[in-house]
Amino acid sequence: MTAPFLQQITILGATGSIGTSTLDVIARHPGRYDVFALTADSSVDKLARLCLRFEPRYAVMANEAAAEKLRRLLAVAFCPTEVLSGAAALCEVASSPDVSTVVAAIVGAVGLEPTLAAVRAGKKVLLANKEALVMSGRIFMDAVLASRATLLPIDSEHNAIFQSLPGNYRCNPDVNGVRRILLTASGGPFRRLPQEKLEQVTPADACAHPVWKMGRKISVDSATMMNKGLEVIEAYWLFAVPESRIEVVVHPQGVVHSMVDYVDGSVIAQLGNPDMRVPISHALAWPERIDSGTTMLDLFGIGTLDFEPPDFSRFPCLSLAYQALRAGGTAPTALNAANEVAVEAFLDSRLGFCGIAEVIAATLERVTPEKANNLETVLAIDIQAREIAREETARRAIA
Ligand code: NAD
Ligand code: MG
Repeated sequence: MTAPFLQQITILGATGSIGTSTLDVIARHPGRYDVFALTADSSVDKLARLCLRFEPRYAVMANEAAAEKLRRLLAVAFCPTEVLSGAAALCEVASSPDVSTVVAAIVGAVGLEPTLAAVRAGKKVLLANKEALVMSGRIFMDAVLASRATLLPIDSEHNAIFQSLPGNYRCNPDVNGVRRILLTASGGPFRRLPQEKLEQVTPADACAHPVWKMGRKISVDSATMMNKGLEVIEAYWLFAVPESRIEVVVHPQGVVHSMVDYVDGSVIAQLGNPDMRVPISHALAWPERIDSGTTMLDLFGIGTLDFEPPDFSRFPCLSLAYQALRAGGTAPTALNAANEVAVEAFLDSRLGFCGIAEVIAATLERVTPEKANNLETVLAIDIQAREIAREETARRAIA
């Protein structure tokens, strides 16, 4: 057997939940993966520990003050990693000719430019950062086609769909007899909470996800079900399936990660423990398979799998996402921007939980969608929608 090709990997957002799971998988397979660059926003101590362990060629911090702190920590430990800072450095480590694979695991719109840089450089891109794709779907997918980058979803649902589609799927559902995408959702922590209690929930309640342990922003998105809304848009772009054929199925156990329904009545699903190392290792090794470190699925222990329709009145964010997708153009950009502003305000206890959907709805009404055919327009709408969402948040500010 020949030795596998050594993938040089950049992890954008190495200190987060996805970054940590990725490094866990990489550490299990030292002969296959070598860490080229690790990046983080402000967690200097955590990135320093990762640099000492994985010895990347580069580390990138979001700003120079954090980078200087990291340099000092690494110098006393004789770690040779070169430390850079800022947005341009993120794009450089994502597109360097020495890199084969980029894991896009920064949270939010700030991840767009380095992820696009990786795509434009034709890398194998493992996409966790769904906000990047939601805000710029057409531009992003056109760039994938133009550069022949390999885009592999590691969002668990999209990875499941990817695994359930035929290997020759070329973004036309009808050619392959695909009728529907069935996107599963756990329903988050408030699936059964009486609706009148939703206004009182705290950031800690919202971040206590029943199935997945994730970063704070996506945990709040799961609690409002905006996460599923963003995922509907993500599926639309990744698999070119019209929104009327993407159906959300609430499945509280989080074992069936999504399904593809075919015209002959066959439904193909991917099952597994709710452990992000599974989709991450699938995409890292694709088309091969490697050990992810997860435990074996215990179907007898799970016993029952439940499925129910989503409650659109309890979770208006889900309807707002479908609405933005139908409106098209830059509407999903505005949706994403307003959501990021509102979620940050909720996490800072400046906005109530139900205010999140209100801010997004009000922002969508005030931002006129435009054609999203260049990055400048998308970035301008992102800025405009954030300004409006801040006003709408201030109007609903809680004491
Ligand atoms: P997280 O908050 O745990 O980590 C975010 C990472 O991004 C950190 O490394 C942080 O340093 C970096 N970052 C944040 N702001 C930055 C900035 N301004 N500049 C540069 N770097 C910055 O988030 P997460 O849960 O790991 O999620 C990351 C992405 O993956 C999100 O887009 C999320 O929707 C997606 N995702 C996460 C999961 C999960 O299980 N956590 C599952 C599916 C998809
Ligand atoms: Mg997901």
